[in-house]
Formats: sequence, C-alpha cells, structure tokens
Amino acid sequence: MSDKSKMEPLKHYINGDWVETESGAVFDDINPLNDTLYAKVAKGTGKDICDAVAAAKEAFKSYRETLPSERERLLLRVAEIMEVRKSDLINCLVDEIGSPIQKAMFEFGKGLTMVRAAAGLCRNVRGETIPSDAPGKFSMSLREPLGVVAVITPFNVPLIKTSRLVANALALGNTVVHLPSEMSPHLTILFAEIVAEAGFPPGSYNVVTGYGSEIGDELTGHRDVNFVTFTGSSVVGQHISEICAKNKTPKTLELGGKSPTLVLADVDLDKVIPLAARSIFMFAGQACIGSSRFYVERPIFDEFVKRFSMVASKIGMGDLRDPDTVIAPIISPRQRNRIKSHIEDAVKKGATIVVGGEWEGNRCQPTLLTGVSENMTVCKAETFGPVTSIYPIDSYEEGLEKSNDTEYGLSSAIFTKNIDTAFHFAKNISAGMCHINGPTIHDEAHVPFGGNGESGFGREGTDADMEAMTELKWVTVQL
Ligand code: NAD
Repeated sequence: MSDKSKMEPLKHYINGDWVETESGAVFDDINPLNDTLYAKVAKGTGKDICDAVAAAKEAFKSYRETLPSERERLLLRVAEIMEVRKSDLINCLVDEIGSPIQKAMFEFGKGLTMVRAAAGLCRNVRGETIPSDAPGKFSMSLREPLGVVAVITPFNVPLIKTSRLVANALALGNTVVHLPSEMSPHLTILFAEIVAEAGFPPGSYNVVTGYGSEIGDELTGHRDVNFVTFTGSSVVGQHISEICAKNKTPKTLELGGKSPTLVLADVDLDKVIPLAARSIFMFAGQACIGSSRFYVERPIFDEFVKRFSMVASKIGMGDLRDPDTVIAPIISPRQRNRIKSHIEDAVKKGATIVVGGEWEGNRCQPTLLTGVSENMTVCKAETFGPVTSIYPIDSYEEGLEKSNDTEYGLSSAIFTKNIDTAFHFAKNISAGMCHINGPTIHDEAHVPFGGNGESGFGREGTDADMEAMTELKWVTVQL
C-alpha cells in the first residue's frame, strides 16, 4: 500500500481537496487474507455526501461545457498515469481485497482499456436530424449530459467498475460522486489521486468513503443526483430501485447472478474443462458472472465430473503473488459464513461434495457438488464463492428449461458443436449475456453488460452508458 495510507487515515476527495469527516471518525479496512488492518479510512457521514453532491452540482455548470478534445485528453492522461502507478494499483488489489496477482493483472489491463474506451466516447456523443411534417421546420435531437452521477461500486472488481463507470460518466460531460464499497476504498482513493493528477477540474470527480448501509440513502435519494449506477447485491439493488422510483431518478443496477452453463454431449472435454474451471474459480467465485450451475448431458456426465474435479483439486491456493494462484480469500466473515452454510445445508440434505468443501484459513477450496436438489439453498441462491453444482440432463431442452428456472438472469453459456442448438439457446435463455463455447465470465469495455430480473436493470458499456447517462433534447428551427 502507499505510504500515504500507512501514515494517516485515507480521506474523502471532495471538490478537489482531501478532506476528513467532520468528526474525524474512521473505520478499519481489513486485508481478507489474514484479517489484519490494511488501512484506516474516513467514515463518511450524510454531510460528506451532501458536500460532495454540492461540489459536483457546482462543477457541472462549467464541466458540461468542456470540449470533447479536452475530456478526451484528460481521460487519456488518466490512462497514462494508471500505467505509471500500475504497481500501486496492483498491490492494492492484492492486499486490500485479496486478489491473486493474475486476477489483479487482468483487472488492471481491463481497467486501462475501460478508461481508453471512455476517451473514445467523448467525440461520439451524437444526436440526430429528424424529418418534420411542419413546412420549413428543421428538427434535431441533442444529446446532453444528465448532471451529477452517483456511482456505487462493489469490492470484487473495484478497478474495472471504477474505470468503466467513472470514466464513462466523465466522458459524457457528467460530474460524479463515488461511494466505493467499504471493503475496497483505497483502490478508489488511488483512482482519485490519478484523476486529480490528470487535471480534472475540482468537483468533477468526488469520492466519499464509508458504509453504504449508513450513508448510501443520502446519496441515492439526494434531489441533486441525476443518475444512479449501482453494482452490488440484489437486496441492496431492490432498495435503491425503490428510492430511485420515488424520486424519478434514472438508474442502472448490476446485481447478483446464478449463471448456468450447458455442456452438450458433442463437446471436446479437453477444451471445455479449463473454461469451466475459469467460469467459477476466478477470484474464488466472487464474480457476479461466475457459473454456479453446470447442466451436463448424461452420456458425458461422469467423465465431466471426473475431469472437472481433477482440475479443481489442483487449482492454485498458494501465495497471492504467485502467478499460479487462483483462489482468493473470501472477503468477509459474513460472506464466509454464507458459503459455509450453503455447503453444509447441501450436504445435510443429501448432496455429495465431489471435491473441496474444506477451508485453508479464509480460503475455501474449489468445491464441486453433485446430487443437488431444489430444496437446497445452493440450488437457487447466489453463493458468491468457489462452489458450483453439476446436474445431469437428458436433453438440451431439459437443460434450457432448468437454466431458465431462476429469478436471476445475468450471464449464461453453452458448449456444443451444433450451431443451431447454440443459437436456439442464445435466443431463448433468459439472461442479459450468453457465451457460446466460452465461459460465463467475460467483459469488454464496449459491450452491453448487464442482466434481467434479480440480476438488475439496464446495461453498462460505452454505448449503453451513453444511452443511460445522457438525455435527448428535441430542438426545432423554423426556417
Ligand atoms: P453489497 O450489496 O453488500 O454492497 C455493494 C455496495 O453497496 C457497497 O459499496 C455497499 O457499501 C453499498 N451499499 C449498501 N447499502 C447501501 C444503500 N442503502 N445505498 C447505497 N449503497 C449501499 O454487495 P457486495 O457483497 O459488496 O458485492 C457482491 C454482490 O455484488 C454480489 O451479489 C454480486 O453478484 C454483485 N455484483 C454484481 C456485478 C454486476 O455487474 N452484475 C459485479 C460485481 C458484483
């Protein structure tokens, strides 16, 4: 971690200044690998949120007028400084949230791409000309920024989410108040340092750290907040959705998942098994798009389970800075208890642990379950850990029906050589994303990323954020 955070509590970044909470209150940011103190962090209050929103609202008056070339230059400068500060960002991802180095490197690369893609957005904020039935009337639409955007990010991919959402909001001419997860505030503070160094004007980007459960409503319900983007659990998403509905504040919600993978009998298991492992074990399954359900056609079921468990039992659980390590510590006691209770409940009700199920410190071994039935919590609820269930199916149709038997609808995947079946699945799966012959875990800066039902509302990505974080104004000229 940087010397700054070792020496003194991390501060909020409001209106271009580093500020403490009025009371001086701080909270502990804990390294999940060994539950040691990682940093002391300012514990934000409602007043801090209001100060940040006021700064963002004031800054919007001039920031919205900045030229596309200026916003593009600033964002590309952010990307340059990110590269200079790569080791700070990567060390933070390792020590603050327990990212294995390979996940931290992957996340850094994605984050960089997100910022560069956002820079490309600045010159593409376009309205259109519209035919008019009124003689001599010239008619057009202008695409305008919304104003103050509230960004609330989760702990698991804090750099990807911050880079995408903050950069896109700023590219489009909005200003931002960012409330990061209380489990990954330092990563966001580092990002704020980079934004400040790049030269973004005071108030255009503001960060308040603290507990979302205490100060989140102040932000999402603030009358001067013009858009809310939230990534986190479905329960909190529902709560925020109700607040936004009451205030008529537009929003995007990226929530939880129970993403299915179908494996049909015609596949080459040598190719599929490594991708299956990637689908669930990356960052120890703490990924919204992780595949926590595998439906495998019966002729290859036993072979699939055997080979998957051999790979799972060998997945790296060593030093987080060892490039072969995949399995991360689970972020918090609450989350560890959830995973433990899902496994215990399944075993108590008759499921079989094919591999895994044990803990090494705060790390749960990669765990494969068979014999899972509907009365087990793990069947339908999001576990958010390195745990997945493998079910035999007698036909593709049964697999599709079971895949759709969920309240979630985030990512999905099918492995087959039959292109007709693959496209049938893509069209009929109730999910925001579908990957044919690829893992459920996949994201790019410009794609429409998001889900349906309990998995959320709206999409993220350069084009999707342009739709979401701007509004059209109709303008006519009588010639
Ligand atoms: P969480 O919902 O507990 O917390 C997420 C964030 O919400 C935190 O920053 C927290 O402080 C904040 N928060 C809590 N109460 C709030 C309130 N009333 N108002 C505003 N903010 C509030 O989720 P988590 O456990 O930190 O993250 C894991 C969850 O996030 C999983 O369900 C996962 O699937 C989901 N997730 C989804 C995506 C996606 O893109 N769909 C990506 C990553 C994580």
